[in-house]
Amino acid sequence: MEIRTQGIVLSRKRVSDNDLLIALFTKTQGKVRLYVNGARHIKSRFHMVTHPFVSGSFLYKDKGELGTLIQADLEKSRMPLRENYERLMVGTYMLELIEVSVELSDPVPRLYDLLDFALDALMAANDYGLIRAVYTLKVIQRLGFEPQVSNCASCGATNELVALFSVSTGGVICKACAPEIADVKRISLEALKWINVGLKSPYATIQALGASDTMMASVNKLLDAYVVAHVARRPLKSLELLTNP
Ligand SMILES: [Zn+2]
Repeated sequence: MEIRTQGIVLSRKRVSDNDLLIALFTKTQGKVRLYVNGARHIKSRFHMVTHPFVSGSFLYKDKGELGTLIQADLEKSRMPLRENYERLMVGTYMLELIEVSVELSDPVPRLYDLLDFALDALMAANDYGLIRAVYTLKVIQRLGFEPQVSNCASCGATNELVALFSVSTGGVICKACAPEIADVKRISLEALKWINVGLKSPYATIQALGASDTMMASVNKLLDAYVVAHVARRPLKSLELLTNP
C-alpha cells in the first residue's frame, strides 16, 4: 500500500554508504520508519529532504515496521535551526521527545501540529527556556500525562495544598501526605502557578506569557524530570546535553 502524508523528519541514520533510515513523524500515520535508497548521494532527489527538522509531503510504500520512501517534496527546510547551538539543542530535544514518546503507526495529529508550530516558533525565538517549557507542557498534556496541580496527587485532597511536588507521584502533594513520599520537593509558588495557567491556556497564549529566566529554569527542571519519569520513561540524550553543556 502506498501512503501520501505530511511529515517532519525526526532523525536520520546511515545504514550503508548510500542508504539511510529515517524516522518520520507524519500527520496521518503517526511515527513511521522509512528506508531511503541512495539518499546520501549528493545528487539524490532525497538528499535535502531527509534531514531532521525538514517537513514536507512524503509518499512511501507501507510494509509494516519499515517502509520505503518513494517520493518527497520539501516544504520547510528550517535552516535557521542549525545556525545557533542552543537553538539546535532545543530543536533536537523537541524531535527526540516525540521520537521516544510515540509508538510506531499511532497517529496523534494534535501533536503533529504542535511540533510543526513549535519548530517554526523556535527559528525566530531567543527565549529558549520559555519556548522549551511551553512545548514540554503541551506535549505532556496532548499525550494525556498531565500532572495534577489542583488536588493532591497522592490522596486527592484539595485543601492544605502547598508548593510541594512529587515527580514520581505525578503532581502536587498536600501537607498530610508529604512526610510519606520520598521525592517531595518544594517548588516556588510562581512556578506552580505558571504550570497551572499553562495547562489551561492555548499554546500561543502561554508562549506570550513572560517569565524570569530563573523561574523558567526551575519549571524546566521539574518538567524534564516529569517527562523522563512519565512520558519518555527513559533518559533523553538531548536533555543531558541541554542541561549539562
Ligand atoms: Zn494528600
